[in-house]
Amino acid sequence: MVATVILGMLCVHLLCFCAMFLLISRRLSGKKMGTDVFAAGHLQLAVAYILQLLVGPSEWGAMSFVNHTLTLCAPITYVFGALRFFNRPVPVLRPILALAVIYTVAQVLVQASWGIAARHALLAASCALLFLTMTIGLLYGARTFAKDLRLEMIVFAILVGGICALNAAKFVLILNGGMPALDMKSPFQTAFYIYMSFLGTVLPPAVVWLILRRLTDELRTMATQDPLTGLLNRRGLMDGLDGHFRGRHVGFSHLLIVDIDRFKQINDNYGHQTGDLILCRVAEVIQSTVRHGDLVCRLGGEEFVVVALNSDREGAMHLAERLREAIACTQVPAGHGHGLIRCTATIGVSRGFVRPQVLDEIMRQADAALYRGKESGRNRVEWADESPDVQVAQASPA
Ligand code: GH3
Ligand code: MG
Ligand code: MG
Repeated sequence: MVATVILGMLCVHLLCFCAMFLLISRRLSGKKMGTDVFAAGHLQLAVAYILQLLVGPSEWGAMSFVNHTLTLCAPITYVFGALRFFNRPVPVLRPILALAVIYTVAQVLVQASWGIAARHALLAASCALLFLTMTIGLLYGARTFAKDLRLEMIVFAILVGGICALNAAKFVLILNGGMPALDMKSPFQTAFYIYMSFLGTVLPPAVVWLILRRLTDELRTMATQDPLTGLLNRRGLMDGLDGHFRGRHVGFSHLLIVDIDRFKQINDNYGHQTGDLILCRVAEVIQSTVRHGDLVCRLGGEEFVVVALNSDREGAMHLAERLREAIACTQVPAGHGHGLIRCTATIGVSRGFVRPQVLDEIMRQADAALYRGKESGRNRVEWADESPDVQVAQASPA
């Protein structure tokens, strides 16, 4: 009786979460992250348990065969959903249909050869093996492709490991005791369905948590990254500066504005697409030339900002000159048989600063230096003037 009530509750849970995943997948129309597949898995499991409630383990009832097939296909559907969550676009429908046909035929053969208990033992053994593979896969994921979700992966592995153990125990019980081992009134069946009900309640919200994490991470990236080059945008730069200057022992930093020379002409001569290609290439060159940890941002258009953190004037000067040289040596295919094109950049360098709040003033300094560089013929590095009205650099490090 207890196991039957628990099973009924589990069906209700599964159907509710199936509806919830469907609703979420409709909201995430572009990138569903496997939510539609998780909904399909829930539906299969709910139908399987409803059939079990209605039919029970009758000998040759077609519904019992369908129940077993769905019970095995549902977790495999979850695996496909998880693969889609991790951006692997696997097909779902055909493999699941193929598995359903193969497993149904296997059930018929096993029951015809060894009887109904053997068919139940087959299900328990198949589930145990499947959940063991899933547990290993989750532990592997925690160390490799899902390092950012390490804790979650380990918790999932423990939970799935629990079902693996219960199915293995069920297999042994059936082998030793035959069909009576599956009596819904037995303590084992009660424990089995209490655990399944616990998982049915805990796992779906845990999956929703993973989706929420992924979505908020993507939103944060979108808010702080330039979509064309993948560098920081202005907001990302501010966040980076705030983070750096919150540290205890910070020295002077210098800000460099890197502006590609005569970029409008490049666009006009070779097209906007080639212009975009140059922006991406210059972004790569800057990123690979600066020190690890320095901040690199695309301000917009063909202007980039580099903040050389904890750098003295000499270090910033060397960096600016290295950047100028590296950009001047870069070649980009112009397309349409135009061969390779080069571009140059002019760089304005600010004076040293130790507080992120002075960013506007620092930018003004670097911009004025850049303007002088453009006036003096481009492809050069120019320094912010040393006039005493600029107070920012006089501040001593915190
Ligand atoms: P200067 O040497 O004085 O810096 O001249 P410039 O031509 O580089 O500067 P100007 O500000 O006159 O032109 C900048 C050009 O950058 C104009 C605009 O069409 C182009 N631009 C801005 N954003 C993008 C972009 O995202 N992609 C491409 N391809 N071009 C862009
Ligand atoms: Mg320019
Ligand atoms: Mg410009």
